[in-house]
Amino acid sequence: MANAVASDRLTVTGNKDFQTEIEKLSGQNIASCYQCGECTAGCPVAYTADITPNQVTRLVQLGQADDVLKSSMIWLCVGCETCTTRCPRKVDLAKVMDALREVSVKRGIASGEPNVRTFHESFLSAVQRSGRVHEISMIGEYKLRSLDLFSDIFLGAKMFLKGKLAIMPSMIKNRDEMKKIFCTRKRS
Ligand code: SF4
Ligand code: SF4
Repeated sequence: MANAVASDRLTVTGNKDFQTEIEKLSGQNIASCYQCGECTAGCPVAYTADITPNQVTRLVQLGQADDVLKSSMIWLCVGCETCTTRCPRKVDLAKVMDALREVSVKRGIASGEPNVRTFHESFLSAVQRSGRVHEISMIGEYKLRSLDLFSDIFLGAKMFLKGKLAIMPSMIKNRDEMKKIFCTRKRS
């Protein structure tokens, strides 16, 4: 994959519709990426992923939707924005990753990191419910959906005993606004 991307470094070809879709959704000018690799050099999770952040932008430019949407990189991205601050072309790659995850879910593409995707969905579901993350209900939902029921059980118990996990969720005041944001994202 890495060589395929590197060898195509100087010729932007392929289906532009996909690039346009991701640019619109993320609000980023992906065409301006010139493959300097600064994003990848600073990314704390790139070493664990199947492709690097600059390869993500390259595949989008080339319209290689399937390759990028099934990659583990878009799900391993933690949104730290290190890449964003390093990019000389001011591409906010964290937003690009977010848009790619959204399209991946909409198209029902199997992720290279299924549990990361399940965690991501459980996190969003918790935010949608109360406007904040309530760790116990979020992890409960994640455990049920992933069927990973017993890993970290002792750590969870330890955190609970130390008072790190609230029993009741804390709700934000205007939850309707939060629901509207989720509805808008679903329709777009
Ligand atoms: S926002 Fe994502 S892609 Fe960018 S440096 Fe952080 S983890 Fe890597
Ligand atoms: S730092 Fe910016 S210009 Fe350089 S490869 Fe990454 S996204 Fe492209």
